Amino acid sequence: MANLILILGDQLSHQLSALEDADKDNDGVVMAEVHDEASYTNHHKKKLIYIFSAMRHFARELEQQGWHVHYQHYHPDNPEQSLEAVVSKLAAEHRPERLITTECGEWRLHSQISQWHEHLGIPVEIRPDTRFVCRKQEFADWAKGRKQLRMEFFYREMRKKTGLLMTPEGKPEGGQWNFDSDNRKKWSGKPPAPAPFRVEPDSVTREVIQLVEEYFPDHFGTSEDFHFSVTADQAQAALEHFIDFALPCFGDYQDALSDHEDWLFHSILSPYLNTGLLDPTDVCQAVAQAWYSGRAPLNAAEGFIRQIIGWREFVRGIYWLLMPGYAKENRLNNQRSLPWFYWTGETKMRCMHKAIDATARNAYAHHIQRLMVTGNFALLAGIHPEDICDWYLAVYIDAFDWVELPNTLGMVMHADGGYLGSKPYAASGKYIQRMSDHCQNCHYRVQDATGEKACPFNALYWHFIDRHRDDFANNPRMAMMYRNWDKQPDERRSAILSRGEWLLANLEQL
Ligand SMILES: Cc1cc2nc3c(=O)[nH]c(=O)nc-3n(C[C@H](O)[C@H](O)[C@H](O)COP(=O)(O)OP(=O)(O)OC[C@H]3O[C@@H](n4cnc5c(N)ncnc54)[C@H](O)[C@@H]3O)c2cc1C
Ligand code: SF4
Repeated sequence: MANLILILGDQLSHQLSALEDADKDNDGVVMAEVHDEASYTNHHKKKLIYIFSAMRHFARELEQQGWHVHYQHYHPDNPEQSLEAVVSKLAAEHRPERLITTECGEWRLHSQISQWHEHLGIPVEIRPDTRFVCRKQEFADWAKGRKQLRMEFFYREMRKKTGLLMTPEGKPEGGQWNFDSDNRKKWSGKPPAPAPFRVEPDSVTREVIQLVEEYFPDHFGTSEDFHFSVTADQAQAALEHFIDFALPCFGDYQDALSDHEDWLFHSILSPYLNTGLLDPTDVCQAVAQAWYSGRAPLNAAEGFIRQIIGWREFVRGIYWLLMPGYAKENRLNNQRSLPWFYWTGETKMRCMHKAIDATARNAYAHHIQRLMVTGNFALLAGIHPEDICDWYLAVYIDAFDWVELPNTLGMVMHADGGYLGSKPYAASGKYIQRMSDHCQNCHYRVQDATGEKACPFNALYWHFIDRHRDDFANNPRMAMMYRNWDKQPDERRSAILSRGEWLLANLEQL
């Protein structure tokens, strides 16, 4: 064997850099389902099923194209339980000239693979991951010398670079870069939200479902009703389904929350983008084309494209710029443990119950549930960033360290001191009431901040504002909150703070 090519579970792209210039007759591909990767966190059962099944389908496609693929199926008694052990064994057996791989999406594994050459006795070539719009170095160059990194300015650079939604004169289509102010409607049930795209499990996926049930029975969530795509063709069909049925309303209801609908008008494409079944630029081009051909309004197309070439690329840039120290940041000095109801959904807070219940069933919750419900609660309650980051990494089908960590630690927990967001996304129950119909079905009263039945988000919000005065009082974007708080009569402030203290001491009872 000339070269051994390692392909990881989130590298399921035929255009992967590790496969470039490879020789099907002489090189071998290795893919492996290993215990170390499957169990370093309490991965949702559907996440394990999705990744193992997509890997198996991808390996089969490679074999059909004539590749020699060494594929290790998961078994708890396999002698090789780590990627390094699998690769070492193959290297000893086949004596390749070198190992080739594409840089991985996680610091933990990246630092391990970077050392492998010392143990394997052959060179390890790590190629850049070309499946992103912005290279790591390009991001570092853009960030250099800037006091604050703001997604909006980075996004404009990516629009210019890709030409997406740009006029031939180099101006943004519609005369504006960003239509976010049009994207904040509450959803009242109309127009009806489309059912998500479904793929019924084939024999490969059914076998993996059994395997996960047998060997990972205690992992979070359920394997029931698995319907995600597991091949690139199926993911492409999911993209087309999104463009036909959900994209037209994606912008309007992007920030909405619903008591009755899990998926609303979101695309549910993140698992496919993050594992390589879909290419981000192709997806954005298809969405831009839908606008050009009159099938979607501009606020929807722009809003969607901004999430991908803006936020997605921006958080990746930050991850690689600031790791490994980033993962340890805790600038608000939060020390509380994650309440147990994050794992069970058993809480009287309707919005939290709905978000966690959907997460357990689907391995999915949409962005506003993650940011403004479960994330907002963790921020207000002062949960330790490591605890909440581990939860997000475990429970979502699309969760990989490079994208989960900056979103949770930076965007939600503000634990990086404002590197990712200029102000914390802290909000009281009023925000959730404005964007959803949860509150009318809740045990708690959203209009109250004190009293046994008062919405916990309210007193926790003011407690957060009060206890972090030193951190935020000088932030111009927070000044109004402090003015509002300071205007309250002393008795009211102390009643709210006492309720806040009680809530913080009794999180498990909520
Ligand atoms: C606390 C928290 C944790 C998150 N963890 C993850 C994660 O582990 N993996 C992940 O892919 N996304 C994560 N996100 C971002 C976002 O919530 C998901 O990408 C989105 O909900 C996926 O569903 P969708 O495909 O239906 O997205 P849509 O709403 O349809 O958006 C379209 C696409 O835009 C991209 N996108 C949107 N927002 C973001 C963002 N903030 N960062 C990166 N990409 C974005 C995704 O690729 C997504 O598929 C997290 C957000 C928060 C607040
Ligand atoms: S009242 Fe408070 S806890 Fe209940 S659903 Fe509304 S915001 Fe959530």
